[in-house]
Amino acid sequence: TTTDLEGDEIENVRVVVRVRPMEKSELNSGATNVIQVDKINRAITAVKPNAPNEPPKTYYFDNVFSSDSNQLDLYVDTARPIVEKVLEGYNGTIFAYGQTGTGKTYTMSGNPDSPQTKGIIPNAFAHIFGHIAKARENQKFLVRVSYMEIYNEEVRDLLGKDVSKSLEVKERPDIGVFVKDLSGYVVHNADDLENIMRLGNKNRVVGATKMNQESSRSHAIFSITVESSELSQGDMTNVKMGKLQLVDLAGSERQSRTQASGQRLKEATKINLSLSVLGNVISALVDGKSTHIPYRNSKLTRLLQDSLGGNSKTVMCATISPSDINYMETISTLRYASRAK
Ligand code: ADP
Ligand code: MG
Repeated sequence: TTTDLEGDEIENVRVVVRVRPMEKSELNSGATNVIQVDKINRAITAVKPNAPNEPPKTYYFDNVFSSDSNQLDLYVDTARPIVEKVLEGYNGTIFAYGQTGTGKTYTMSGNPDSPQTKGIIPNAFAHIFGHIAKARENQKFLVRVSYMEIYNEEVRDLLGKDVSKSLEVKERPDIGVFVKDLSGYVVHNADDLENIMRLGNKNRVVGATKMNQESSRSHAIFSITVESSELSQGDMTNVKMGKLQLVDLAGSERQSRTQASGQRLKEATKINLSLSVLGNVISALVDGKSTHIPYRNSKLTRLLQDSLGGNSKTVMCATISPSDINYMETISTLRYASRAK
């Protein structure tokens, strides 16, 4: 842990769990709730369906959000402290991890048409530009964004001319790991940013259909860089740069090896690999004793290297379904998330 300017302790890595509400289709098909949320002890308990003799399993986290949690409560607890750090010139990363259909995209992007359903990304935009609007006259800001996806260990530009083109990952001693030819946009207000997010999200779906793949099989990384400096007597001083990485991960569900073959099996293997490398990197960071952090073992962790570990702040938000039919996947998400701590 480190201490911020006000002396408050902030953990470098936090893991929270969010349960989505039951869906109408689940209720209609008689699904039952197998998840209990204990807000006081920050615990999730899962009861195995049709197994009265099996004791329930309880997992503990930094925080837990029940199905009636709202987007703003989640933002204030998980994203707000990280965005504050980014505005002070540190890097931060927020991940949404979980089975497809459990609310990763709802948590990260949300439904941008209503203020109550906006996710972390649009709320971060409002937070950043709200901060800029209140800054002193001599403080100057530059906000830049890019949006990419990693599919099958290939990087694609969600804001570029051709979403299907695979981009190269390179490294330079001065700037570290970067994606060659990735487009970057300077934005001046939260509305600009929101339009860019929508464009990227649309491209994610278009690209997915074009390549006969679902967007749930790719990781989407939205990066916001905030540079600030003070102009005093004609000099730029106090120059800071912070980067926020907002990551909507590929669905964590295990692909059945008997059903997947060819291209599907190849995809599934790569998704499982990159998620397990991410788990290893995060648990090595939490452990603090590891001398080797395996960043280089996947594109995802390699690209996020400068925003994971060191002075960076990381939050993983694991999303789960409350329903009995998803019990096995839910347990596997809870295990993964509690291992990250
Ligand atoms: P994922 O991205 O993990 O595949 P989605 O974010 O697309 O899942 O969520 C699946 C469905 O559940 C969507 O219709 C979404 O609006 C809804 N949903 C997910 N989480 C919540 C939540 N916390 N509150 C309300 N609706 C949610
Ligand atoms: Mg999604």
